[in-house]
Amino acid sequence: MKLLWDQWQGLPETVIRQRQAARLQHFLRDAVLPFSAHYQQIFRERNLTADAFESLEDLDRLPFTTKADLLNTSNRPDHFRDFILVPDEKILARRPGTICRALLQGRAAVRKRFEAEFRPVFMTFTTGRAADPVPFLDTQQDLDMLAAAGKGVMEVCGARREASLLNAFPYAPHLAFWLAHYAGTEFGAMMFSSGGGKVMGTDGTLRLIKKMKPDDLIGIPTFLYHVLSQAVAEKVRCENLRNIVLGGEKVSDGLREKLRDLAAELGAPNARILSTYGFTESKMAWAECPCPADKPSAGYHLYPDLGVVEIIDPKTGGPVGTESPGEIVFTPLAARGTVVLRYRTGDCIDGGLTYEPCPYCHRRVPRLVGRISRSSEIKEMNLDKIKGTLVDFNELEHVLDDAPHVGAWQLELRKANDDPLERDEIILHVHKIDGGDETQLSRELSERCFRIADVHPNKILFHDVEKLRELQGVGTQIKEQKLVDHRPKVK
Ligand SMILES: [Zn+2]
Repeated sequence: MKLLWDQWQGLPETVIRQRQAARLQHFLRDAVLPFSAHYQQIFRERNLTADAFESLEDLDRLPFTTKADLLNTSNRPDHFRDFILVPDEKILARRPGTICRALLQGRAAVRKRFEAEFRPVFMTFTTGRAADPVPFLDTQQDLDMLAAAGKGVMEVCGARREASLLNAFPYAPHLAFWLAHYAGTEFGAMMFSSGGGKVMGTDGTLRLIKKMKPDDLIGIPTFLYHVLSQAVAEKVRCENLRNIVLGGEKVSDGLREKLRDLAAELGAPNARILSTYGFTESKMAWAECPCPADKPSAGYHLYPDLGVVEIIDPKTGGPVGTESPGEIVFTPLAARGTVVLRYRTGDCIDGGLTYEPCPYCHRRVPRLVGRISRSSEIKEMNLDKIKGTLVDFNELEHVLDDAPHVGAWQLELRKANDDPLERDEIILHVHKIDGGDETQLSRELSERCFRIADVHPNKILFHDVEKLRELQGVGTQIKEQKLVDHRPKVK
């Protein structure tokens, strides 16, 4: 797929939005409405056609789709199938261009092209803690788009073809691993995929770092933190480390700082910490471009030709102005296979969407700016109310990542005496770094938690790094866990 992104990088906001609206109309008319069972029904109920979408503002005629809408239920056990585009040969035959192509290239060529467009050949699953992960199907066209978006990530991050890259994302049917994989092949750089903590473990990944001396390291922040801490403990040198590219979970400023310090101890004081943002339902991810360590990030650089990002007020669902905080909503413009329109991510971004040229790389693509709070995970675990107060776990996570002398940590929720009817308890597990007194650190952490999130942990327990790795599931879980819920359910 030719990524139009290159050509869209110099366009002003009004032109970008006009072009996106034209693509949206085309996408709805040619791909979604004829072939999506779910959206056919939605459009029928609302008496809508593709013609009703003349500008991006018209998107609000469509209802949002949420994570819950995608889940199978007992009376709809295969509900995920309703979101897959299933082509109808008769409609495809009537498409402008089909007859022309059949005459010029023959029927076989036409069939091959339709197969690439519509036949699912690949699958990922939604991540998170939902009991029932939702399969997302991709066609060859989606894989081409994934590769194009992956290449976009590499370009924005300032990767170099001669670099050697280590992809430490967990080998799993999840977007992050495959996006990194296709990014490497499409961009044309040497990439080794280690499979993450569960496949090669901290030690195995570290052995690879020693041998490979990668220029770029890609993975989940919690896992890379463990690997680099271990590298520092073993006095490993990796002077050529240039980029640490993070994805799969949100990254606090404190954790960025800690990774930067670790890279410095490995002999790479100028290594850049870059974050990416993406989700299964978008089938792509976006990256930050490099900026000076003391300057704020320019945010995630979007591909306006491949999707529309809206920012909404999470309470009312209405639009917010540019550069205003709100929840991220995504609509693809070129997807096939599983297609979800106006997907509500549950993620809020505090700087919103901007169309201003990037102050660092000067690309003129829309960008998502500021801190992302992933509320979706919190909602799934029903953690909003702990100990009778509303706890902002996003804030708590920042507090702990930013705290001095705190290395890896984990918050554990329990019930007193493991009795489901008893009160909630929060236990904070910490690996202490850079010296410091346990009693004093305990007191400081408790105060910090109370100041920001209005709760005191019931217990703060200090562990060595091995124990913390075990608690977080490094090497046993696909994704390391910073927040675990061990509250027994009421029977
Ligand atoms: Zn930039």
